Amino acid sequence: MSNVFVPKSEIEKQKEIAAGLHNATVNKKACVQTYGCQQNVADSERIAGALRLCGYELTTDTSQADVVIINTCAIREHAELRVLSGTGQLKKQKEKNRDMLIGICGCMAQEKHRREQIKRSYPYVDFIFGTDMHHRLPEIIRSALSSKKRVSFVTEVPHNEFGVISEDMPVLRESSYKTGVSIMYGCNNFCSYCVVPHVRGRERSRSYDDILNEVNTLVKNGYKDITLLGQNVNSYNGELSFPGLLADIAAIPGDFWVRFMTSHPKDASDELINVMAENEKIARHFHLPFQAGNDRILSLMNRGYSKQQYIEKALNIKEKVKGISLSTDVICGFPTESESDFLDTLDVVRSVGFDMIYSFVYSPREGTPAAVMEGQVPHEEKVRRFNALTELQNETALKNNEVFVGQTLKVLSDGSENDAYIGRSSQNKIVAFDKPVREGVFTNVLIEKAQPYALVGKVTD
Ligand code: SF4
Repeated sequence: MSNVFVPKSEIEKQKEIAAGLHNATVNKKACVQTYGCQQNVADSERIAGALRLCGYELTTDTSQADVVIINTCAIREHAELRVLSGTGQLKKQKEKNRDMLIGICGCMAQEKHRREQIKRSYPYVDFIFGTDMHHRLPEIIRSALSSKKRVSFVTEVPHNEFGVISEDMPVLRESSYKTGVSIMYGCNNFCSYCVVPHVRGRERSRSYDDILNEVNTLVKNGYKDITLLGQNVNSYNGELSFPGLLADIAAIPGDFWVRFMTSHPKDASDELINVMAENEKIARHFHLPFQAGNDRILSLMNRGYSKQQYIEKALNIKEKVKGISLSTDVICGFPTESESDFLDTLDVVRSVGFDMIYSFVYSPREGTPAAVMEGQVPHEEKVRRFNALTELQNETALKNNEVFVGQTLKVLSDGSENDAYIGRSSQNKIVAFDKPVREGVFTNVLIEKAQPYALVGKVTD
């Protein structure tokens, strides 16, 4: 696996190119727009770091920007359409500022049919780069500035077996107190509806030392909430297994929480559950997607577990890790899903009692086996199931939250929003409280009222 790591000499070369761009980027601004998951947010922070290294000042206002990079998501068609519409809106700005550069990266950039569409229909996009190319951004910007033609830095899909891991490029984090740290990339599971293994490549893990050093530095710099990220985070396979890595991170001195996202049920081992139970610094939240409740559908999805196995695992986590909240992902209307199959999904929801469900209507993704399966479910039926699921979940979420009334929870303040003071608990619950607490500071809140997706209380410090 050593060929996975980008050589230090390549990183040094990119830093030299970045330094050489400083004359061209005096008083120039760059903007990174992010669509999709937390992995994309983390990637955007690396892109922003590389842009700063090139000399750009960062802005969130595209009308001020000389470079706009759109970091895209391909997980659902809706997300892709939003990206394309956002790209279309930049055309007018480019007409006003002819020197403006527009770049597209992320999962959509890895899809051949989308690249061709962008080439055909979005001629004002100046450069495209893939998910393995962030460390080469200085070179990409230099090429885009000097070339009259569109520049493309994409490793073909399916890109090399593993993809790459680059270290030592700067990261410009959005928040000064909570952040994500990618620990592995890619996925080997090939769920039949999912585009991720096709666009992000096979699993590869960062080294234990690099992760520990990064988290140590974050804690020293005052970060309080650190999320370990990976498409399949608990299949981390560096010098230690994921539970070992998590335990060592929790042992770093300091007052902080560590979380992780996203997990596959097959990797939610007893060892991991025990490590969570023993370490209060590991946030009391487990996101464990189940996707569907019917065994035939789970098999068609290639998920690798049965309804019963999932329920047992989820209940085991709840029993062993006291006070934990569980969230999940569900797909409504996977091909051939009947009403009675869907009732199995509702049964899992009732049996487990999730705190939060991220539910989606099934969206066919080009290149995946499920997209060409017979028995596609009509859209209206998918939406009906989605609504039934949401209704059931709203009741469950409220019941789960009512348990917290009368308890005092440790809450990390997110400052104020719309005249309310809010933060998050270790369970990842939104907590509203009665007086200002500085952003990024822990406080104690006595919970007085429960809502389905929020708790309300008084600061007791
Ligand atoms: S485990 Fe997650 S990322 Fe991997 S293929 Fe399945 S749904 Fe996609």
